[in-house]
Amino acid sequence: MPLYKCQVCNFVFEGPQPPDRCPKCGAPRERFTLLSDQEAELIKRSRKSNYLHMRAASLLREFLAIADELIQENLDPPCVRIANEEKDFALTTLQKITAELESHMKKGRWG
Ligand SMILES: [Zn+2]
Repeated sequence: MPLYKCQVCNFVFEGPQPPDRCPKCGAPRERFTLLSDQEAELIKRSRKSNYLHMRAASLLREFLAIADELIQENLDPPCVRIANEEKDFALTTLQKITAELESHMKKGRWG
């Protein structure tokens, strides 16, 4: 399916032809332009990467909750130390993912 981009708000529409009006900003059909195969491919890959980053973030939040439980359990110092390392890893990686997704949006690759 070809992709069409609204030149007013950057909404990307997938279909055989552009919609009568932009679902996001209401601009008329004439404001949509057909994206090249190369642009469309980049948007599809970017959407997939964003989706995978969000799935990873969701697993990291679960990982973080488990680390917190281990810390609360407070069985012995080595156990708590490992749990704190897990927590640091999850928090840092979540922040990296958030920054990366924000940079995708600024580049207009959010799709
Ligand atoms: Zn629009």
